[in-house]
Amino acid sequence: MGSIALGIHGGCGVMPKQELSESDWAAARSDLALALRAGWRVLREDGRAVAAVEAAVVSMEESPYFNAGRGAALTTAGKASLDAAIMDGATLRAGAVSAVERCRNPVRLARALMDEGRTVMMTGPAADRFAETHGLEIVDPEFFIIERQRQALTAMKARRASGTAATASEAEKHGTVGAVALDSAGHLAAATSTGGFTDKPVGRVGDSPIIGAGTYARDGACAVSGTGAGEYFIRHVVGHELASRMAYLKEDLGTAATKIIMVDLSAHGIGAGLVAIDYAGRVVAPYNTMGMYRGWVTTAGEAYVATHETVFPAELH
Ligand code: ASP
Repeated sequence: MGSIALGIHGGCGVMPKQELSESDWAAARSDLALALRAGWRVLREDGRAVAAVEAAVVSMEESPYFNAGRGAALTTAGKASLDAAIMDGATLRAGAVSAVERCRNPVRLARALMDEGRTVMMTGPAADRFAETHGLEIVDPEFFIIERQRQALTAMKARRASGTAATASEAEKHGTVGAVALDSAGHLAAATSTGGFTDKPVGRVGDSPIIGAGTYARDGACAVSGTGAGEYFIRHVVGHELASRMAYLKEDLGTAATKIIMVDLSAHGIGAGLVAIDYAGRVVAPYNTMGMYRGWVTTAGEAYVATHETVFPAELH
């Protein structure tokens, strides 16, 4: 059996260090470690990469620290409207959902859609109905809403009214969660889940559920999950671009990912980051913001988590 490795992110919308207490940062890191453990457990038992990324993303959807599932950013109408996707690099099968309002774990819904195999994407009430008929947990839409996001929406509306929305910090605006994995059979997978950005228009769909943009996996190349202003990830088709640079230009993962984040996307003046893994289990997590929630487990079984520059070792057991 071959090497296994895992990478996760909890979005590049990280607050400045001084805005949260050290215990809050420690709690966020501990939720990242929890997600790493959830994914790692699957891989260690020779589970599939798709199952590992699903488990890691479910864990972060459940955490209020990240903009996905409970704790998601709210639309201009004050609701959580959730996007998610999952992709299996071995088969190129994928599932993606958008504008989900009632399924507790949108990434599970994306997985169910992928497993059923009839369609790649489903949206809105039909996606929630699909979740219901496939036995996934359904919750009241209020379940997703937390006080911090209510306040963020009020603040963003005030900024828009006063014409200062453009100066909002990355943390005020957005976030996302994602995971990438290499399993012991040599297969890659990626998954992403998000609430999008604060005060997003009703019906807006971001990059996370767009296969090839915010989420992509292809065996022999890489698996990738993005975070940042989704419109630009869609326009640059970031996930597919990364795999293509590796395949056609023979760039290594780090070179290709750095070029896309630090050159292509940074040129638009937007916040952007990603986590990606290559066929050999190397993980990279570049970002151009002041921080990005992230974590990874190396092929040597060493685990790390970070929110800003400093990287902390994490416990896997
Ligand atoms: N990419 C997400 C979206 O545009 C947001 C984010 O990651 O910050 O929906």
